[in-house]
Amino acid sequence: MIPPYNAEEAAGMEYPTFFTAEAYAEVEPRTANQFALAFVTIHEFGHGYFYGILASNEFEEPMLDEGLNEYWNLRMMRDQGQLAYVASPLLARLGFAPGYPVFDAERTGTPRNDPADPPGQNAWHRLQDIGPVYSRTATLMRDLEARIGKAPMERAFREYYRRWKFRHPSIADLRETLAEVTGQRAVIEDVFARQVYAVARIDDRIKEVTSTEQLPLPGTRMVNGAWVDEKQVDVDRQVEATRKEWRRAHPHARDGTGPYPYRTEVTVRRYGAPVPQTLLVKFADGSAETARWDADERWHTFVWTKTARAVSAELDPQRQHYLDTSKLDDGRTLDPDPSASRRWGLEFAAVADYLFALLATL
Ligand SMILES: [Zn+2]
Repeated sequence: MIPPYNAEEAAGMEYPTFFTAEAYAEVEPRTANQFALAFVTIHEFGHGYFYGILASNEFEEPMLDEGLNEYWNLRMMRDQGQLAYVASPLLARLGFAPGYPVFDAERTGTPRNDPADPPGQNAWHRLQDIGPVYSRTATLMRDLEARIGKAPMERAFREYYRRWKFRHPSIADLRETLAEVTGQRAVIEDVFARQVYAVARIDDRIKEVTSTEQLPLPGTRMVNGAWVDEKQVDVDRQVEATRKEWRRAHPHARDGTGPYPYRTEVTVRRYGAPVPQTLLVKFADGSAETARWDADERWHTFVWTKTARAVSAELDPQRQHYLDTSKLDDGRTLDPDPSASRRWGLEFAAVADYLFALLATL
């Protein structure tokens, strides 16, 4: 149902067996109106399943309704290839119509730096109001899906629905169904304990990356049975000769490779709750190293000694952790490398802020 002229306040609401969408005079492709209409229509329809058929308690456990509904809302849009658009019809006609992945847009609207209310909290006892019930639940469910897999998540939700429709499930019922059906009880219980019944900031960063060529050092050493005192100037001469010879033998070698090994140290730093992390380090010869950082610790230094210099280090290359405060501090490059800045276009945060200011008025 579309609310009549002068009744916009009736828009975007769910009722038993019917719902209202939005009323726009113009709905042009790749505009904020198109995005909002698709979003609201799917959203209000979805409520029929969560507050309607499953019939959980919106007042005591709003995340089971608004939160899960928001997650499925965005999931459906993501899988259809629908992007979040911000432009007015005029701007779109002028060629300015940027679109962002819907979960990327959603994460910018949820408190990540200083979250105060567990998503599992009731609807009224909240410092940061009801918004995070939608956005933080959707984002944490997205992160859980990225961690345990799309298919297990779908199986678990199908079973949650089968088991609990018309029976008023609680958050604990959701947790048990997810744990049982996915077979990943430890992960589910950890996520629910830290991010559903409680709330914790997630903030992992690359703190420092160094990659240093390991050159011979001056000093006293044994050469042909005699002690030789090598000065820095001797070492420099030897290094230069070795490099020249190596260059001749490897005329097409890339910068950042050579006759001496490089020692690469990457220090990662944690300012929030622990999450399982992946660190990806790329090297000048095109090779890469991956390390798991699963320990519950505040920092760690990973060390590699290889024949090439490191060029970049990145945490969470698979983007499993959208709850992380900032994704911009997840990566670091050693050389100015334009391709590295593609990861989360720097302009994105600014435009996404604009998007959410706009959405808040809808
Ligand atoms: Zn809703």
